[in-house]
Amino acid sequence: MAQSIRYKRNLEQNGITQEAQEKLLNARVLIMGAGGLGSGVIMNLAALGVGQIKIIDGDIVEESNFNRQIIHKYKNIGRAKVISAKDWVQEYNPDIKVELDKIKINELNYFNIIQGYDIIVDCFDSYEAKYMLNEIALRHKKVLIHGATQGFYGQVTTIIPDKTGCLECVIQKPKNLKEVPLASLSPVVNTISALQAQEVLKVISEIGTPLLNKLLVFDGTTTEFKTLNYSKNTACAACSNLNSF
Ligand SMILES: [Zn+2]
Repeated sequence: MAQSIRYKRNLEQNGITQEAQEKLLNARVLIMGAGGLGSGVIMNLAALGVGQIKIIDGDIVEESNFNRQIIHKYKNIGRAKVISAKDWVQEYNPDIKVELDKIKINELNYFNIIQGYDIIVDCFDSYEAKYMLNEIALRHKKVLIHGATQGFYGQVTTIIPDKTGCLECVIQKPKNLKEVPLASLSPVVNTISALQAQEVLKVISEIGTPLLNKLLVFDGTTTEFKTLNYSKNTACAACSNLNSF
């Protein structure tokens, strides 16, 4: 009963049927990163009623995070970001099941982390982690909701293995993968993370049209969006040789 009141406003939206809400409540979404993008994604998914989320991040909360990582509270400085983020979710929506792992994923340890999750949200901040995640999602046929920001700019796309191009089809791997893009301001990060959550909503509920083979680009200096179309690159190093899986 309490649950039906909590999601009453979801159900009043055009197209959000009881069935769609049930799909959200039964969904499991893996969120890679509990920083700027992760904050917004986690908060929005908790509000939508995504029933189970898993949060992965190896860092602790630092004071310099607070210009954009809005899920964390000042009292949690020095604590693991995953624990701080879980605290917020439990206070906001105690019905959401939260799994967490304070770990930096790599090619050796990722396998158990992704088990049981078919949708992965890329909230990482480094190129290296993003391109690794792209390859992992392709290899294991997971839907990847990509988001990235740099300064006043941001982008979002939804990658479905075998159906769309991948991150590397759209944007070539940078030469210096270790480079971390310029940190963004709160409004840019929260715009992009909200759009990633909207993509999760569309994929799970099967309502609307996700950004498939479309890169949505946000320019925070003019507050304008552009949609760039892309397609699978048959010579892509990441996704062109995966048919044997
Ligand atoms: Zn590709």
